[in-house]
Amino acid sequence: MSIVHVVSMSGGKDSTATLLLAIELHGRENVRAVFADTGNEHESTYEYALDYIPSALDIRVDVVKANFAEEFATKRKNLERIAAGEPESAIYGKRQFKYHWTPEAARRALKVLHPTGIPYLDLCLVRGGFPSRKRQYCTEYLKTKPLTEYALEVIDTGAAVWSWQGVRIDESDYRREQLQGTGACVKSFEVVGGGLFIHRPILRWKAEDVFEAHRVAGILPNPLYRQGMTRVGCMPCINCGKDDLREIAARFPEHIERIAEWERLISQACRPRSPVSFFHMGTKGHQGQDSTIWNVVEWSKTSRGGKQYDMLAELIEPAACSSAYGLCE
Ligand code: SF4
Repeated sequence: MSIVHVVSMSGGKDSTATLLLAIELHGRENVRAVFADTGNEHESTYEYALDYIPSALDIRVDVVKANFAEEFATKRKNLERIAAGEPESAIYGKRQFKYHWTPEAARRALKVLHPTGIPYLDLCLVRGGFPSRKRQYCTEYLKTKPLTEYALEVIDTGAAVWSWQGVRIDESDYRREQLQGTGACVKSFEVVGGGLFIHRPILRWKAEDVFEAHRVAGILPNPLYRQGMTRVGCMPCINCGKDDLREIAARFPEHIERIAEWERLISQACRPRSPVSFFHMGTKGHQGQDSTIWNVVEWSKTSRGGKQYDMLAELIEPAACSSAYGLCE
């Protein structure tokens, strides 16, 4: 049985180093690079992952994108019933909700509830809110699922798949705690079954090893690292740290404005009074729809300490994506 080496390529330094290693060890003809497009990436990342890397390495980078057409159709059907006066319980049964639909709110939501083709935005529209660090479903729906489907399609051709993941224990304190804090042994190689294997070859590399791999291969890192970013992924990521957010707002205010526009749109598509904010605050300070990304940007410019520090505790330490698969960096 042939083996296809599938590398999840995010445009970050770790996934790029992993790709370089896979090509070095197995040859470009046996390696497939695949980019999960969230629709929430910086233009430099698209250019880097989809133009620079393919041309510098003479490879093709496949793109996968989550599609929520079915979820939109189901939600629209339910909202049409509520707009027509049916009670929520007739649709959702005994499930309890903190906020409740009204026919007016359902009609308002139906006006904006259409697929945009931007996976991140579509996921939030059908969910009626943004993911949070505690409920980080963005990674699962925007990256893990489409990438797994990609791997399964390759397996269906009769090949075995080694899924190369660019995850490093040393990436952050948060990652270290997540991977080692429980005492669980994180393996660099795992047999999943059904022809799928997971390979984490840079698990114990340091950041300098990763940049050295770029240098040796003659490949530049994503230019965002030279523009004040400590990690590359969504622009911004919900796990973005305070310093990164301040840099993003100063250098790329158009991305903050885009998120602010998403907040406005999603607040039209959710249950009345349901809090909609890109960054979820600690429960103590949650201000619902008043806690916009612009509030958080303003906070990012303040020094640490005081009341604001407590209110926004979730944002204080930069954290990696909580996926153990390194799909977001
Ligand atoms: S980079 Fe951040 S926001 Fe984007 S999918 Fe990963 S965890 Fe979610």
